[in-house]
Amino acid sequence: MIHFFCPSCWREISESVVMCPYCNYDLRDFNCLSYDDKLILSLKHPIKEIRRLIIFLIGLKKLKKALPELEKMIEYEEDPIVLIEIVKTLQQINDKYAKAILNKMRFHRFSIISRYIEQIEYSQIKEFYGKATNFNNK
Ligand SMILES: [Zn+2]
Repeated sequence: MIHFFCPSCWREISESVVMCPYCNYDLRDFNCLSYDDKLILSLKHPIKEIRRLIIFLIGLKKLKKALPELEKMIEYEEDPIVLIEIVKTLQQINDKYAKAILNKMRFHRFSIISRYIEQIEYSQIKEFYGKATNFNNK
């Protein structure tokens, strides 16, 4: 069975409604949004696997417009796997704002997140010095 969700409040709705009965969102508005804006709205999807996929796509597209929503998400997201996906996406985007959010995540209430960031940074440093050594050998 296929479930339909309101893209504004993410409560389950029937396929046939035009207006969400919970938040009055006009579902026809959603079809007028750009693909990027649909992605950003979908960060609030109730299914964590979908959220993770959306975050991954935002990283692939290096969608800077999604950064404010990702910043909010690190406060309320309860799933560590989704949070780790955010870390990867921030690294992909890698601008000043993304780096600032990443810095904030070092002090995340889930210690697994800060440990994950330390671990990837350690491997990047190792890789960097590995390359530097190869360069010197030439
Ligand atoms: Zn709604």
